[in-house]
Amino acid sequence: GFNCGIVGLPNVGKSTLFNALTKAGIAAENFPFCTIEPNTGIVPVPDERLDKIAAIVNPQKIVPTAMEFVDIAGLVKGASKGEGLGNQFLMNIRETDAIAHVVRCFDDPNVIHVNGKVDPISDVEIINTELALADLDVCDKALQRLEKRARTGGDKEALAQVVALEKCKPALEEGKMLRQISFTKEDLHALRGFNFLTLKPVMYIANVSEDGFTDNPYLTKLEDYAAKENSIVVPVSAAIEADLASMEPEDRKEFMDSLGISEPGLNRVIRAGYKLLGLQTFFTAGPKEVRAWTVKVGATAPQAAGKIHSDFERGFIRAQTIAYDDFIKYGGENGAKEAGKLRSEGKDYIVQDGDLFEFLFNV
Ligand code: GDP
Repeated sequence: GFNCGIVGLPNVGKSTLFNALTKAGIAAENFPFCTIEPNTGIVPVPDERLDKIAAIVNPQKIVPTAMEFVDIAGLVKGASKGEGLGNQFLMNIRETDAIAHVVRCFDDPNVIHVNGKVDPISDVEIINTELALADLDVCDKALQRLEKRARTGGDKEALAQVVALEKCKPALEEGKMLRQISFTKEDLHALRGFNFLTLKPVMYIANVSEDGFTDNPYLTKLEDYAAKENSIVVPVSAAIEADLASMEPEDRKEFMDSLGISEPGLNRVIRAGYKLLGLQTFFTAGPKEVRAWTVKVGATAPQAAGKIHSDFERGFIRAQTIAYDDFIKYGGENGAKEAGKLRSEGKDYIVQDGDLFEFLFNV
């Protein structure tokens, strides 16, 4: 699966957020192919389109798609030098596909700030510096190893890696995030195996107080900072989300009404994470089950078929396809078909978000 690692300084609300996310989570036994560590949560991706499709199809079951969040606790200043079990945590981040960086944007005298003062930019920079230093270490070691091979042996792969690494090194020395550097396609290919932390896509989760969604200078500063690196900020109140997650559905509804919100803020976090990972959703719809599935943006129809079963991909013939909007507009498959909106797509078809598929395949 694809996952998003939750990082941030201690005491910023990571665990609170992670626990709220996993309370709404999916039982691990429904996902037999992934081994679940205690710090990993499989979270259903909220998608109102599922209910709209189900209202037409009346299936026995509705199955959302899911993504993983990993709680990476313990990242502190000095982690890249091995402080506070630092290296272990940096290793955990290496294994994630994207980063959700939680930043404290609330005041609360009862919650100690590790540096004694709420300062989102300084907090973010502490973490980002550790990540850049860890990447610099990987970069230096790789250069030492590869330079000779690239120079003497005529090793083309090593040469491409050295070229790309030499672009990384000065940027990292300045404390820049590699995701801010414009690399060529060849560079990115050459860098793939290094799993650089600062090359991963990032979203900042601003943990605000209940009344901190507007007129919050901490939030404004963080938004300015994030805009400079083209990252997004998702404001959320971890405390509210923790309360919501622990409530019965009726109480939850009442509490959300009182806050003037129509869905938990976590839904925004999950959807932002999903997007950050470059994922999109397609649907299958039948009387037994209406189900959402995940593929990478840019995936082909056979790759989508392969998400359901590897035989579907191997024996792929074509995909009977209806766009979500057409399915709803024409009241389901028959209506869409009569309106000429059912397309027969071949193996080169690029999946569009919201496609409803029925796959035809050879066994
Ligand atoms: P972590 O170290 O980043 O995982 O932080 P925790 O989730 O353990 O939170 C640290 C402390 O901050 C706990 O006492 C939480 O109850 C408190 N906390 C977390 N989120 C909020 C919030 O949104 N508002 C307030 N006031 N306190 C919070």
